[in-house]
Amino acid sequence: MAVNQRVKSEIWVFAEQRQGELVDVGLELLGKALELAHPAGWKVASVLVGHASEKALCEQLLSFGADEVIVADHPLLRSYCSQSYAKILGKLIREYDPKVFLLGATAMGSDLGARLAVRLRTGLSAHCIGLELSPEKKLLAVVPGWGGNVLARIYSPHTQPQMATVMPGVFNMPQEKEATGRIVPVDVDLNPEDVTYKILEVKREAGQEHALEKAEVIIAGGWGIGSREDWQSVEDLASALHGMVGATRPPVDEGWAKENQMIGQSGRTVHPKLYIGIGISGEMHHMVGIQNADFIIAVNRDPEADIFKMCDLGVVGDFKEILPGLIEEIREKLQK
Ligand SMILES: Cc1cc2nc3c(=O)[nH]c(=O)nc-3n(C[C@H](O)[C@H](O)[C@H](O)COP(=O)(O)OP(=O)(O)OC[C@H]3O[C@@H](n4cnc5c(N)ncnc54)[C@H](O)[C@@H]3O)c2cc1C
Repeated sequence: MAVNQRVKSEIWVFAEQRQGELVDVGLELLGKALELAHPAGWKVASVLVGHASEKALCEQLLSFGADEVIVADHPLLRSYCSQSYAKILGKLIREYDPKVFLLGATAMGSDLGARLAVRLRTGLSAHCIGLELSPEKKLLAVVPGWGGNVLARIYSPHTQPQMATVMPGVFNMPQEKEATGRIVPVDVDLNPEDVTYKILEVKREAGQEHALEKAEVIIAGGWGIGSREDWQSVEDLASALHGMVGATRPPVDEGWAKENQMIGQSGRTVHPKLYIGIGISGEMHHMVGIQNADFIIAVNRDPEADIFKMCDLGVVGDFKEILPGLIEEIREKLQK
């Protein structure tokens, strides 16, 4: 049985892993946490929960700058399970009392974060798009509110840890450097009866899990496209430009686009060289997902649409009149 050493870090970051590989958002959060912690005289721990694949992952986390890597290793932690993960992390957090606990706003991080917050009777700022540390060392979580028109800075003055989930891609990956941190294995007291369901099999959804985040050209359609039939023109423009298709929330709700194509606060955060938004009003919930795009073109028939305030090139008009000719011209030019 491992004897718990004292964990010294004030900020803990959940190092999400899938099938023995670290998920980028855990590293992005580690980088941001280091940026906040070190000027304040704090340390940062990555928290790794799993079984048997840990050594290489610990070394990777140390090379990305973690001051400590807390390792909870147990056969019952091999696959993600909200009950066992929340039990172990809840116990560790109570024991070591970190001031801040951060997770990716992934399916796993969102599920685990909510469970842990309830267990620890603390607050959780979900789907944040920024993190700051106040002069009083309170975590300020930046979240779009009131229909996306206001950016709220939220903090919990009375409870600890202050918890937040952050979308993948919001922060940059940290630079790798010489590892100076240490690994802290911790005791794991788990029994089969702590888990009331069994994971029989884990199947990875085939396809382009992170393709949108890596795409250089994105053509996104919004509610203004109006129908599944007309959605084809968004697909056609994307195919003519060898780009990928993105969407706002309404086309996903309507079934014209898939969930993993939604860009924004509760969707993907993208960094394309070119983003073309068609029939999109420019609500903050969507725009936060494209704020790192190099060049933004908007097509909207309403000259007052908010997206025109944030784009590099705006085209006022009906997409049905603009897109067919544009697609034809692009195809002709690219063929030559
Ligand atoms: C907590 C929360 C989280 C959210 N997260 C997200 C998120 O991650 N991503 C996201 O996208 N949304 C998100 N939303 C929803 C978001 O607030 C907006 O409702 C949504 O982004 C609006 O989508 P839209 O611009 O496609 O639609 P609308 O706002 O309805 O805009 C449609 C636009 O199309 C234009 N138009 C209409 N017909 C044409 C035409 N023929 N030619 C050209 N232009 C035309 C109109 O002028 C209009 O500007 C979230 C909402 C909440 C409350």
